[in-house]
Amino acid sequence: ENFSDAGFGPAVMENVTRSGYTKPTPVQKHSIPTLLFNRDLMSCAQTGSGKTAAFLLPIIQHIMAGGPDMIKTVSSATNIFGFKVILQPTFNNGRRTYYPSALVLSPTRELAIQIHKEAAKFSYKTNLQTAILYGGRENYRDQVNRLRSGVHILIATPGRLIDIIEQGFIGLSGCRYLVLDEADRMLDMGFEPQIRKIVGQGMPPKTARTTAMFSATFPKEIQLLAKDFLKENYVFLA
Ligand code: AMP
Repeated sequence: ENFSDAGFGPAVMENVTRSGYTKPTPVQKHSIPTLLFNRDLMSCAQTGSGKTAAFLLPIIQHIMAGGPDMIKTVSSATNIFGFKVILQPTFNNGRRTYYPSALVLSPTRELAIQIHKEAAKFSYKTNLQTAILYGGRENYRDQVNRLRSGVHILIATPGRLIDIIEQGFIGLSGCRYLVLDEADRMLDMGFEPQIRKIVGQGMPPKTARTTAMFSATFPKEIQLLAKDFLKENYVFLA
């Protein structure tokens, strides 16, 4: 009934405590064990339900458990569940391409910033690297330059991410976690083609990744997306 039962390692647990979290919210109670077991998840969760920690904590725990080498230096590589996670960039036509282990897609810049803040809190005093990419006013170059410290968890809005992938700065072949946050809002905003492109091109197939979808509503379009992106035995939390 509290976070110390979740099986998090000391670094994650310390950051949970520091954040002032003692009791998991209902969505956290269900999502954290589901994702820790690498089961796919469709969760009907609203803003304010604690959904951000519900997906970030298990992902951070898994990346940390990938071994100390993984998080020691940017240029190290290690295995998570037998998969090699490439942290050092590869060079393609003079471009550095970074390979995040986890991708969180967000409909808006504001939500992306909020998720990034939570991710920074939970990875405090670790070498786990997070990065954020979103469209709009902020300089494209600044966002790309910040990737240079490496990126384990990438939080992005769909349009900007496609742009950055096409420019060769991000590759998704090592990405073992996919989160669609506020999936219904992303569809309302017309991001379905972009989401399908990101997931369909360059991401490991659904059998080789863990996928979580969060949505306040569950219309037909979301059900179809869940059918395409989640493994058949996914956990549905209403
Ligand atoms: P979210 O629904 O993820 O946007 O979270 C809403 C707010 O609740 C955020 O400010 C979180 O930091 C906070 N929060 C999430 N989970 C907990 C928890 N278990 N205990 C206390 N605060 C929490």
